[in-house]
Amino acid sequence: MGQLNRRALLRQLQKLGVASRADLAKALGMSQPTAGKIVDELMGMDVLEEVTVNGGRDGQGDVAAHLGRPGRKLRLNHSRAKFLGIQLGVTTTNLAGLTLGVASEDHWPGSFEVADTEPNPARAWERNLRQVARSLDGENFLGVVVSVPGLIDEAANRVLFSPNIHWTEKADLPAMVGRIWPVPVLLVQEERALALGHHLANPECDDFLLVDFGEGVGGAIIVEGKPMYNPLPLSGEIGHTPVPGNTRPCGCGAVGCMETLISIRGLLASFAAAAPGAAPSWRSLHDYIAQNGVTPWLAQSLDPAAAAIAGALNVLGLRRVVITGSLTELPPAVMQYLSAAVRNGAMWARFGQVECSSAPRHRTAGLVALGIDRLVVPDNHSVPGKLPSAKVSRPVLPGKPSATTPPHTTT
Ligand SMILES: [Zn+2]
Repeated sequence: MGQLNRRALLRQLQKLGVASRADLAKALGMSQPTAGKIVDELMGMDVLEEVTVNGGRDGQGDVAAHLGRPGRKLRLNHSRAKFLGIQLGVTTTNLAGLTLGVASEDHWPGSFEVADTEPNPARAWERNLRQVARSLDGENFLGVVVSVPGLIDEAANRVLFSPNIHWTEKADLPAMVGRIWPVPVLLVQEERALALGHHLANPECDDFLLVDFGEGVGGAIIVEGKPMYNPLPLSGEIGHTPVPGNTRPCGCGAVGCMETLISIRGLLASFAAAAPGAAPSWRSLHDYIAQNGVTPWLAQSLDPAAAAIAGALNVLGLRRVVITGSLTELPPAVMQYLSAAVRNGAMWARFGQVECSSAPRHRTAGLVALGIDRLVVPDNHSVPGKLPSAKVSRPVLPGKPSATTPPHTTT
């Protein structure tokens, strides 16, 4: 019960930003002494801090008590980094010390690269991480929250399958990070962090599919303000929708996945083929689209993405899609084309309104929220590594048929 109350109070503060003890007690339906006791505990853990608010008109209710004089209010600790956030990408890894407030935008001051030609990428990754660690003041970290792509068994705190970074499947990432920072380490699926962060930055947006474009294409689903959970540690894998006629091999082991056409690498490959002589850089692709609009080869990459998104909306019963990442950096014609094509395929657009909007990434906000839930106020089911593993067995990887594969399964 204690943890539930603490978590509810922290969630409320994430929404309100700043609030008095009385505001919190009222919003949560707790007695003032109960709310006050939780606040004192969280202050003792350095999770909350007191701030002076002039005029006192920013919380809800309780205005008269503060009117005209400074009021002491509470907020999540904005003054010091309490988590280390790590964003693991195909070649680039980014780092940031994260305070507990909801950041208005992602900012990653530290970064390093591990080339895909590296013979032992896991060792190179740990070595680079150790080097960057020297520049960070890590004394106050309550934990490290690592955003990772692919299929993550969050209960067991490990990567099951990573189409674009296969080395992470065998590496013990929490142990590697834990050797540098001896605090709890949490692996978080990268799109889930994005979707949760988007919701925290836009609390009114509470039912949506988020699709992020970049090195791959992934999605995550928020329903009634909460990430959708499934029996399998797999959801939103929209980038691996097959596209008829597409012969490009995908990192997942299949041929013709949508992300091979519309990831950064996929788009640049199509651009190089369509405009020989042009240097296939993201900058020159941007300029090409600004000049030529959505040409047929580009439409051929956007159409399958839109079809997969529309299919997902139809299946999930959602009418809102939020697009983040690389496509939003291109000229507006790209998002306009994609939005129109999504609406074309979405049933809800026939008699209602389908919203397709672009948004900045709020991954750090999502990482902080998950870190608070699972490291600051964990319940029995969320301490990393202390859980019975998910009830599913390890998936059968391409080329590795398992003895447990049912005979009727074609591989
Ligand atoms: Zn694939």
